[in-house]
Amino acid sequence: MKYQSTRGKAPVLEFADVLLAGLASDGGLYVPAELPKFTPADLNSFGQKPYSEVATRVLTPLLSPSIDSDDLAKMIEESYATFRHPEVVPVRPLTTESNENLFLAELFWGPTFSFKDVALQLLGRLFEYELSRRDTSVTIVGATSGDTGSAAIEACRDRDGINLIMLHPRGRVSEIQRRQMTTVESTNIHNIAIDGTFDDCQDLVKAMFADTEFRDIHRLGAVNSINWARVAAQTVYYFTTASKLVGPNDPISFCVPTGNFGNIFAGYIATQMGLPVDRLVMASNHNDILTRAHLSGIMEIREVQPSTSPAMDIQVSSNFERLLFELSGKDSSWLTEAMLEFRSEGVLVLPPKILESLHVSFEAGAASDQQVADTIAELHSSQQDFLDPHTAVGVNVARRLQPTNSPLAVMATAHPAKFEGAVAAATGMSPPQPEEIAALAGKAERCIELAVDINAVMEFVSSVSQ
Ligand SMILES: *Cc1c(COP(=O)(O)O)cnc(C)c1O
Repeated sequence: MKYQSTRGKAPVLEFADVLLAGLASDGGLYVPAELPKFTPADLNSFGQKPYSEVATRVLTPLLSPSIDSDDLAKMIEESYATFRHPEVVPVRPLTTESNENLFLAELFWGPTFSFKDVALQLLGRLFEYELSRRDTSVTIVGATSGDTGSAAIEACRDRDGINLIMLHPRGRVSEIQRRQMTTVESTNIHNIAIDGTFDDCQDLVKAMFADTEFRDIHRLGAVNSINWARVAAQTVYYFTTASKLVGPNDPISFCVPTGNFGNIFAGYIATQMGLPVDRLVMASNHNDILTRAHLSGIMEIREVQPSTSPAMDIQVSSNFERLLFELSGKDSSWLTEAMLEFRSEGVLVLPPKILESLHVSFEAGAASDQQVADTIAELHSSQQDFLDPHTAVGVNVARRLQPTNSPLAVMATAHPAKFEGAVAAATGMSPPQPEEIAALAGKAERCIELAVDINAVMEFVSSVSQ
């Protein structure tokens, strides 16, 4: 399998190089040059297999020849053994006595109770494997507004060859999210609370990467959501969810709470690998740039407004570039121009042909904070069930779609206890806390505080990178 950059000017690479590179050298994102295809017989065989086996079947062609297939199977096995549910991604009907044909695919049973674990558990192991094969090490630097930080920390803790430095905005992540990051005892994990906003944290990280000398000396690396390995790992649960709900020739539908477009893009890739899908629905909160673009053909950046589903408070969805590349028939010169225009003007008018293919493959909808709260409250009063606000965005949008015959799975992206504040505000009750989350309260925290000062942050990074 070979990977090419969406901007067409970076070298064609194999999987392991793409894994370590993250962003392509021409500023583009790596995508597979061609995708493996599964037949209905393949899909049928997924139905009887445990999650890890399906993952190995789906991922082997995407990761070969870089990653040895026996080693891959072992890393996959270990990654998903950390999940707290034997099915890894269980699927259940949304309501108990319904003819609604709506289901929840629960992606949140990993170590940090967020869907980010599905990809990052594997990513951490792949990084360690490849770094040891190359006899080198990496200093991973990241910024988080909450979920990614803890999932990356859990994925990288105690891994050889990896030092991880995570920046978060001081006082602006939830207490649970902070404790999930700062109570990890491993010596290769370092938290910095920045006296500023999430954007300040991201700008500090970008500034370190932009300093090529610094980047090379400390071998900086990233595990952010543009890393192709994350998309690849996320394709798997589209296959396993379908195998639980429909036969190999029958279509299924998905509704996906969307921020950076990584999760739903993985669903699109699954369709390109042969999974019959009726509809793929992108669901946004009031930061609805993608929903507006789907409706009008005009992709226009507005200011991010905080919502109760903070992991979706995004205006520039980086993985959307991968979709535009595919929908344009892999036209990298058009894409390069379009992305530069979008970055400089804040607006991109989608050409009619691209808009048409977007409409063929996707539907879109947005839910306000009020609609999200109503959905959480309704599910709670009708069946004492708790939804997290991100999942509730998906459920709210899904329930307003024109019904079709295919079963529709909403991707449940976080455990409700992780967003206790919004859930309690909507229902008047706190969701039950898993014991791992309750136990965080008694643990010591480790974190340093720094101002929005690039020199101070770089000094710290230098002091911990080997
Ligand atoms: C990251 C995240 C999302 C958004 O996923 P994307 O892949 O960025 O679209 C949705 N919900 C939760 C809970 C998340 O952590």
